[in-house]
Order: sequence, then structure tokens, then C-alpha cells
Amino acid sequence: MKADESPFPSGWYGTSLECVGLKEQRPNVGTYGLYEFSNLPLIDKSFDGSFNWLDSEVTHSRNIGNEMRTSIQKSIIELTKSCESIGTELPRSFIQFLTTLHLHNCIRSATDCFLDPSNGPVQSPIGDGFLIRFLADSQACGFWYLYIPKKINDHCVVMSHYFFDPDYDRDNPPDGFVDGVDPNEIVFCAPSFEEFLYRFWLENELSFSYFNETQQNLSGKKYIEQYSTAPADKLYIDSKMACRVCGKIQPEPPWGEDGASPTYSICDCCGVEFGYEDANLESLRRYRNNWLATGMPWFRPKEKPNGWSYELQFMNVPQEFR
Ligand SMILES: [Zn+2]
Repeated sequence: MKADESPFPSGWYGTSLECVGLKEQRPNVGTYGLYEFSNLPLIDKSFDGSFNWLDSEVTHSRNIGNEMRTSIQKSIIELTKSCESIGTELPRSFIQFLTTLHLHNCIRSATDCFLDPSNGPVQSPIGDGFLIRFLADSQACGFWYLYIPKKINDHCVVMSHYFFDPDYDRDNPPDGFVDGVDPNEIVFCAPSFEEFLYRFWLENELSFSYFNETQQNLSGKKYIEQYSTAPADKLYIDSKMACRVCGKIQPEPPWGEDGASPTYSICDCCGVEFGYEDANLESLRRYRNNWLATGMPWFRPKEKPNGWSYELQFMNVPQEFR
């Protein structure tokens, strides 16, 4: 099912790829970001449910199948039965993958995501179809589901921060689970289960190649090359726009486009005058420390957002001015 045929907005929920040179397209905004779907490199492969692209890949002792190793097979039997009873068919690729341990061993996750198939489908809060969970983040930050529409033989993959499961008691959610559902936050992330897993595998391998200082595989190199031509993601913050003292994003670059032509305007937050107290590293640090020591008063208190966090805002300050 293509993005525009699904009832969901689209997006890719994944980790930053700044480490492999995609600072603008995949900026670091926390463990995960919801990145623009239209910027993703197209996957130029036809998927036939055989996972032949994965079959000969290296296996890993730590992989997405470890956590639920003993219960996956049982869940799939239950799930198949409950789908049959409501006249819904699981995609062949889904059964093929979930029932082949060798394939699980080939996929590892840099954020410890694990296969976690639910025992049955649940009604999707959006669209006329069902959600079937298959993947969970280790910190329950996000979950990935098949979406199967009721009347057509098709599917796609969606992501949600919410936990959907036929056995889940919303009145007694397990620790750390978000309750109450905002149906509008479910996002379409892949037109098929196999394509989702391909991108998931590829991006995780890119992260591991960085952590382990190993060679990127050929598909990974091609992926970075394609991605690097995409426009900057909406989550990307151009560090030229940030106050060098406190990190507040300014309406225009405080030191000009060239980083050497200060505007001499005043930061709403820390009150620094661009080009004056922040003229060199020593003086901007002195200014920042004084400001911190006096309890971080806002120069224009009306501009202070609710729930403002200095720590988060400070992340905008380029490394060389910290
Ligand atoms: Zn400032």
C-alpha cells in the first residue's frame, strides 16, 4: 500500500544519521526523530517475500530476535488463528520472516528494538483496518505495526508511540507505557513489511559501521550518497541561527551568514548583544557563566516558552562556542 493510499500521514521514525555525514537530513534530536518521508532515498529493489537480500548477510549474536525468542513462534500461531477467524490474511512475507530464525539473526538494532508480535489484531483508530504489532523499542518509545485494511488484500507498516495489543488493559497500563491514544500520531513508514525491514536493517548497519569503525556495505554507501542530495529535514536547526551563549534560535543569523558580521541585536533569552559580549570564546563563556549563576533570567520574559529547558536549547550552540 502506497503512502497516499493509506489513511495515515507519513514519516520515518528512526535514529539520527549524523554520524555518517547526514547532519542536515538526519539531525540528532534525541534517541529517535520523526524524519520527512519524502526525503528518504528510494529503495530500488523488488521484494517478493523471500528475503533473499538478507539471507546471505552476516548473523549477529545480539539481534532483534533475542528478546522474545521463545515466544515468537507461539505468537505467530495465535495471530494466524485470530486473523483467520475474522477473515484477514497475514502477508506471506510477514509469516516467512517471523517464522525463520535465521533471518532474525541477520538484523540488529542500535537502539535494541526487538521483535514482539502481538497474538492478534486490533482495530486501527484510523482507517477501516487492523493493526498488528511486530516490533518494539526497548524503552517502549515506539512500536511498529502492520496495517491491514479490511476489504483489500494489501498492507503497509505504520509506527506509533502507543501500544496496541488485544490483551492490553488500558485501565492498568504497564510501567512506562503511554496511555490514551492520539490517533493522529500514527504514521505510515513503509509500503510493505519487507521494504520496511530493508530500510530498518540498512540504517542500523550504517550506525553499527560507525560505532564499530567497520566498512559500510555497498548498499549503505549508495544510500548515504542518495540521501545527501535531499533537502534538510524540518528538524534540522542551522547552527548559524543560534545564540552562541544560550542556544536560542534567532530570527536572523546573529553573526551574519558569514559568521563574522554581527547584528548587534539582543538575545531575548540571555540578553547578550551579538558582537559585543560574545566577541570571543573567553568573554562569551564569562557572560554565560554569570547568566547561569544569576538563575538564567530571560531578557524578555514574555518570550519564554512554557516548559522551557536550557539543557535542550543549549544543544543548538555549536561545539566551538561551548
Ligand atoms: Zn542567548
